[in-house]
Amino acid sequence: MTTQPTTNCPDIFAIRSDIPALAREVHGKPLVYLDAAATTPRPQHVIDAINHYETHFPANVHRGVHEFSGEATAAYEGARRSIANFLGADAHQLVFTRGTTESINLVANAWGSTLSPGDEILISALEHHANIVPWQLACERTGAELRVVDVDGDANLHIESVEEAFTERTRLVAMTAVSNAIGTVTPIAAICAAARSRGITTLVDAAQAVPHMHVDFGELGCDFMAWSGHKMYGPTGIGGLIAQPAILEAIPPWQGGGDMIRTVSFESCTWNDIPWKFEAGTPNIGGTIGLGAAVEWLTQIGMGAIADYEQKLLHDAVKRLRSIDRVEIVGTPASRAGAISFVVDGMHPADVGAMLDRHGIAVRAGHHCAQPILERFGLNSTVRIAPAIYNTAGELNTFESSLRRIIDVFG
Ligand code: PLP
Repeated sequence: MTTQPTTNCPDIFAIRSDIPALAREVHGKPLVYLDAAATTPRPQHVIDAINHYETHFPANVHRGVHEFSGEATAAYEGARRSIANFLGADAHQLVFTRGTTESINLVANAWGSTLSPGDEILISALEHHANIVPWQLACERTGAELRVVDVDGDANLHIESVEEAFTERTRLVAMTAVSNAIGTVTPIAAICAAARSRGITTLVDAAQAVPHMHVDFGELGCDFMAWSGHKMYGPTGIGGLIAQPAILEAIPPWQGGGDMIRTVSFESCTWNDIPWKFEAGTPNIGGTIGLGAAVEWLTQIGMGAIADYEQKLLHDAVKRLRSIDRVEIVGTPASRAGAISFVVDGMHPADVGAMLDRHGIAVRAGHHCAQPILERFGLNSTVRIAPAIYNTAGELNTFESSLRRIIDVFG
């Protein structure tokens, strides 16, 4: 995983023109979309790929003997190969799910069934609710315990703190690669290496990493990696879990139904091969094909070029926010990707967000589904901006001047 600079400078105006939603006006103002951490807008290439499937071969996969079904299966499994390859894995390691939340729930239910009372699951203070609640439920079912590694006052997660928290009973380290609320990039590869050297299973929540940097499952060295398609320019309702094949072979299926079985009788069943053993029922075929197109789109721009450009945007945005009186940035991590949270002294984040919206600027205000990390900083809500590859310095300028005006007039 790297945010190292490259020399390629992407053509931002060409990228913007690929994404139709960015041409919209909101409340009579040109849209400035600063909410990529919630979801990224879809490129035309992705929309076209979904339309092509729905228009030309809208059939089910794997089961049909007819031409349509063959074409749908080829496109669906072709998308699996290219998405897996993009994320440094083989196709048989990639289970399609609805997204990060479902992927983590799959692991918490299937792998989690091997937990015993007193086993420990280690998460960090930075986690999204999707990487907290499924483990709380798993602990309730099995008697395992959930333990949390804190961050420092700047919201950095230190490898030393994680290592100090390991005990004889640690069975799983489940941590995020990038915090969605603060933007902290964690030392996730080092954490995975430290855990693995002690025989501890590892899960990486890569939801906020895959859109912003080169992420390679093999290089990360984890056992499970969860992510969402809609945060990497694909459609909603599709994402995945990449896992070590031996673990996928060993753990039981999570959901039962069509396609995940080899044989069924009223007495017993046998399971399909991985990854299909974990894909019960008709999958999101159009969404998968759309996600395959999103990966082509990202590959064409280049993840190195994206990381490089977005780092510049983030530095620019931090500088602008720091220059505004009464604005305080929440967390100053040594390495940041994707997001900046801030508060305005004397103003509620929801009001700031709503007023920015009147200026055509889309931000997120609230707890960002990461209540514990906000509470860690004595807050229950922040404004979050999440710039991405399609944003421009001009848009950050519009954001800065709108925020200044809002604070002057209403603050
Ligand atoms: N993990 C992180 C770090 C996230 O930012 C999000 C969504 O914001 C999720 C998990 C949950 O993703 P989804 O709602 O796509 O399942």
